Amino acid sequence: MTQYDFDLFVIGAGSGGVRAANMAAGHGVRVAIAEQRYLGGTCVNVGCVPKKLFVYASQFQDQFDAAAGFGWTVGKSTFNWTSLVANKNQEIERLHAVYGNRLQKSGVSILTGRAQLLDDHTVAVDGKEYSAERILIATGGWPFVPDIPGKQHIVTSNDMFFLDQLPKQIIIVGGGYIAVEFASILHGLGVNTTICHRGHKLLSGFDEEICDFLTQEMIKKGIHILFDTDIEAIESAGDCLAVRLIDGSKLITDLVMYATGRIPNSTGFGLEALGVELDSEGAIKVNSDYQTNVPSIYALGDVTNRVNLTPVAIAEGMAWVNKLYDNVAKPVDYDNIPTAVFSQPTIGSVGLTEAQAREKYPDIDIYKTIFTPMKNALSGSDEKTLMKIIVVRSTNRVIGMHMVGSDAPEIIQGMAVAIQAGATKAVFDSTIGIHPTAAEEFITMREVVT
Ligand SMILES: Cc1cc2nc3c(=O)[nH]c(=O)nc-3n(C[C@H](O)[C@H](O)[C@H](O)COP(=O)(O)OP(=O)(O)OC[C@H]3O[C@@H](n4cnc5c(N)ncnc54)[C@H](O)[C@@H]3O)c2cc1C
Repeated sequence: MTQYDFDLFVIGAGSGGVRAANMAAGHGVRVAIAEQRYLGGTCVNVGCVPKKLFVYASQFQDQFDAAAGFGWTVGKSTFNWTSLVANKNQEIERLHAVYGNRLQKSGVSILTGRAQLLDDHTVAVDGKEYSAERILIATGGWPFVPDIPGKQHIVTSNDMFFLDQLPKQIIIVGGGYIAVEFASILHGLGVNTTICHRGHKLLSGFDEEICDFLTQEMIKKGIHILFDTDIEAIESAGDCLAVRLIDGSKLITDLVMYATGRIPNSTGFGLEALGVELDSEGAIKVNSDYQTNVPSIYALGDVTNRVNLTPVAIAEGMAWVNKLYDNVAKPVDYDNIPTAVFSQPTIGSVGLTEAQAREKYPDIDIYKTIFTPMKNALSGSDEKTLMKIIVVRSTNRVIGMHMVGSDAPEIIQGMAVAIQAGATKAVFDSTIGIHPTAAEEFITMREVVT
């Protein structure tokens, strides 16, 4: 027996914390996990899961519209926001139970409340103190809202999942994936949607051509996008909000949502007093073993602000446990992490963008196709699909694949395996297609476009 109450104390029961706790307990480690708000963290409660449910909800109008071309007469459709939110909440409750049961089965002690670090081996939760040999910080992130006049009127993605009613019109501030996804969701649910972005392109970090293509598709659908602008102040105007932009112009809307980034949850629970080092953005600094400068304290997931995605937090949790409790070094490979944007149409992306590829290699070949998906032959929609492959000419290695179109995330997940395995373009060329699909276009592109 050690001198401590637990071998491992995990703070935060989100994607990374839960995976690390369950796995460590599987190795016979005595584990406690503290959670202040909700089991499953951001992903389950105010992130990936409820977002995807809302994405599904927002796609029905397009399906109803498309049905006529296929011979269907669909009756008058109506949408009930309250029932969507209630059904979503019920599903999240189910997931809470799944997470709780799994932790209990693994033998993890679940402590409800905000954890406070007292020293490098002691944590207090709800007035009780616990000692642990190691402490893992997996406290995630939180939406950042700039300090502008009228800030009290602003909602964030956290609030969007629990709105009492759907607004008739909304302004979404930001140009990242959360802004773009919510714009598509709300537009699909019939809300007059405007994106207000201080940059001149959406989705920085994604392949530029893919972003431009999606932007055009979103505009075609009727989403308003204001580039190179920002909000100066927000005032209430009767039942509405009056929004003043930096050029002095005014917009009237029902709701203003800010999706202007997320900051690591690293303050207010004792890291400062222990001298745990943070970077300039508040992310906990860790070495390649997720260890902070205080040897018994480790951190992973969004609080370290590296690649802020659920599968990455999970992979980090697994790598950390494998190394520490099983002596197996299987470090996370941060290259070629596939990502998606659940916009309408969706984006799927893996590997380097064209700009990154051209910076890294002198001999890049680009294969590209833009086509009308087969469904739209009859659906009446003029939505197009774009697919792009980036190849290093000298080695024939495929180093980037990007798509805008239906099912792009599902398709790119498979392509990511090929890229991870180091597939050459010749391997893609020799693969037999599945016909008729959009995915087969990825293996039938033969002409270099640039
Ligand atoms: C709107 C939105 C959509 C997203 N969509 C996707 C997506 O489609 N795909 C994807 O891969 N990723 C998505 N993400 C990102 C994903 O949710 C995060 O990367 C992931 O949840 C990070 O996991 P984590 O374990 O680091 O932290 P979190 O999941 O944030 O968990 C941290 C937990 O710690 C708790 N906590 C914090 N401080 C304390 C304390 N002092 N004591 C006790 N508990 C504490 C919090 O309450 C929280 O439950 C989305 C995020 C958002 C906001």
